[in-house]
Amino acid sequence: KRLVCGREWCPICGKDDSEHHKRRIARLVDRVFSMDSVGYFVFEVPLAQRGYFEDVGMLRAASLYLGKMLKREGFSKAVRRWHFYGKAKVTEAKKLKLDKYHPHLNVLCDVTGRWADWDSCSDVGTGYIELELIKRIRGLWSAWLRENTDNVYRVAPVHYEFSDEPGQIWHWVRYITRSTFKALTDSNRHIASDLFQFNNVSWWGQMSN
Ligand SMILES: [Zn+2]
Repeated sequence: KRLVCGREWCPICGKDDSEHHKRRIARLVDRVFSMDSVGYFVFEVPLAQRGYFEDVGMLRAASLYLGKMLKREGFSKAVRRWHFYGKAKVTEAKKLKLDKYHPHLNVLCDVTGRWADWDSCSDVGTGYIELELIKRIRGLWSAWLRENTDNVYRVAPVHYEFSDEPGQIWHWVRYITRSTFKALTDSNRHIASDLFQFNNVSWWGQMSN
């Protein structure tokens, strides 16, 4: 096995489909494909509260909270990984330009059990969940942010998609494992030094069906 540094901002490891990216995919793929159908949540942080997330302790705390909360809401297994920026742009000078720091947690979770499709023969769901539940989850996340940041309630964007198509699920695994912290700048260097010790991928639940 070749030694690679695995840093998101490494010009080699940070590239999409780099050897390190492929290793990240390989670590998650069995877990995700052991799910009956997959729900894909993205938890964003309102602009005014993002500064708090320059601290790795905050990333950890939020990830722990969201895991506990989603478990309580009935998602028995999931994998999760932070993205630190939106899509990076390449400028005319062919230099990578990052937008503003924009941490968001990607969660792929098993949607089964109470969401089973009772009209069909199997007890496997399609990934569909009620809009009411998505709103409830968004409310809980927004409330957690209020309590753990500046004590102001803001609605935090939460996105949800679902699929039971292997091609789509594969695409999501590749997407959430890609590097987003693709360049070091004067304004993000302090975050990077913390992230070096940070284990970004985590999961809960049993892998077997
Ligand atoms: Zn590297």
